[in-house]
Amino acid sequence: MKHPLGSPYVRDQLSLRALPLNEKRLQPEGEFVLYWMQSTQRLEDNWALRLATIEADRVGKPLLIHQGLEPSSTYASARFHTFVMQGAREIARRADSLGLTYRFTVRRRLDDDARVLDRLASRAALVVTDLFPTGGVSERSQRLADRVNCRVLAVDSVGVVPAASFHKEEYAARTIRPKLAKLLDLALEPVDDRAPKRAMPAALLASLNVDWLDLAHCDIAAEVARCEIDHEVGPVAARGGLAPARARLHGFVEDGLRDYAERRRHPSDDGGSSRLSPYLHNGMISPMEVVSAVRRSASAEQAEAFLNEMLTWRELSLNFCLRNAGHGSLTALPDWVHRSMRAHADDERETTYTLEELEDAATHDPIWNAGQRELVQTGQMHNVVRMLWGKSVITWTETYEQALTWLLHLNNKYALDGRDPNSFAGIQWCFGKFDRPFASRPVWGTIRPMSLARAHTKYDVAGYLGRWNGAKEGELALA
Ligand SMILES: Cc1cc2nc3c(=O)[nH]c(=O)nc-3n(C[C@H](O)[C@H](O)[C@H](O)COP(=O)(O)OP(=O)(O)OC[C@H]3O[C@@H](n4cnc5c(N)ncnc54)[C@H](O)[C@@H]3O)c2cc1C
Repeated sequence: MKHPLGSPYVRDQLSLRALPLNEKRLQPEGEFVLYWMQSTQRLEDNWALRLATIEADRVGKPLLIHQGLEPSSTYASARFHTFVMQGAREIARRADSLGLTYRFTVRRRLDDDARVLDRLASRAALVVTDLFPTGGVSERSQRLADRVNCRVLAVDSVGVVPAASFHKEEYAARTIRPKLAKLLDLALEPVDDRAPKRAMPAALLASLNVDWLDLAHCDIAAEVARCEIDHEVGPVAARGGLAPARARLHGFVEDGLRDYAERRRHPSDDGGSSRLSPYLHNGMISPMEVVSAVRRSASAEQAEAFLNEMLTWRELSLNFCLRNAGHGSLTALPDWVHRSMRAHADDERETTYTLEELEDAATHDPIWNAGQRELVQTGQMHNVVRMLWGKSVITWTETYEQALTWLLHLNNKYALDGRDPNSFAGIQWCFGKFDRPFASRPVWGTIRPMSLARAHTKYDVAGYLGRWNGAKEGELALA
């Protein structure tokens, strides 16, 4: 018979993954347990949902899952709202069949009632939410924990391995890689998803008096159009949700994975990487599911190449954002970078651009412009181009601080996977984070340089240029 509080494995994982956000007690008169879904937008392999279910069963109360969209979130736009609502529609459908009560709200205008969550929390025995260090999630969660009367717990479903396994900041891929390898098999045990024992009574749900969105029947585009958000950053072709994420995963496992190490280097090869980052960022697919599918299907060599990104670099990024409060500023960089930046701060920049010129993809370089247009038009950018894109801005801005601020802005405003721990780690990598010093050059100092001019000799970019910006292949001659 299954243990009512979950297997010892589940309890061990939860003791590592759950973080109390306040010292308050569980409220015995609370009418339900509330799972406030934020960054783990799925019902499967979700440790926060697992904990909320266990607690609901333990105290004999029903479970309510609530997710909401806010116009006040940083970079709230038609692009992100649409992607999240597409995923939410699928969650709503699945919740019904899994015996879960899931409800969704959209606060349309900044002056609409902002207290729905507080009203729900005021009637809850306990609030469980997602642990996520970026995108404003941890700040929102902490503010709620400080305001409400009941206990609030944040639970980590981001990493395959619980992030709490690493107590300090890991400094490089080589330091975290062997630790992850030791913990991996254990971390891939199933989460043991179960429905709560007590259903949420319809009368209790109605008494909450909340204007839930009818996800099954609403017109998502019309709902998004009513919101007071940025409509210039519009919806893209990629559709949010678990089903599109699984379709990508399976397509990638059958095709792109075969020669991943080589193919992901070439921007013209559209299928050379998984393109799963928007889904992983929103928690629409579990990283455990991705890692398990790849380990089952790939040769050892290709699996290792993929896991180096999906596990080592992704979990290093999570560790960085959790353990380094300065992850959004230059203070996060190692001493050798600071010495280099001091020595080269006044070097003359040959070319500089304004933020508007960068945003409009109006630089002299066709590869850079193609990457920026891919980002603006699709919400994604090929990894190799993204590295060149980030590195180039360092030499095109007056100061290193300006380069960092503008890169974070452009990435997080347009990228479907933006505001992620990977966003901060990837951009900081451009400035030397997790890297070593190189021979000194003007402006770069000892930071690893990357040359747009030489990119076309190392990577296949011709098809990429044609596809994303309508640039003629002959424009390469300008680079
Ligand atoms: C300047 C810059 C900005 C970046 N901004 C983001 C961002 O906003 N969000 C984001 O998710 N990634 C970011 N990255 C990392 C990387 O570019 C993307 O994760 C990757 O391109 C996503 O494509 P994919 O899903 O096809 O990756 P795949 O190659 O299929 O890899 C699978 C998964 O592994 C993870 N991954 C892959 N490469 C990296 C990496 N270098 N570091 C950490 N995790 C990785 C991602 O979750 C990815 O979805 C950035 C990198 C740079 C250089």
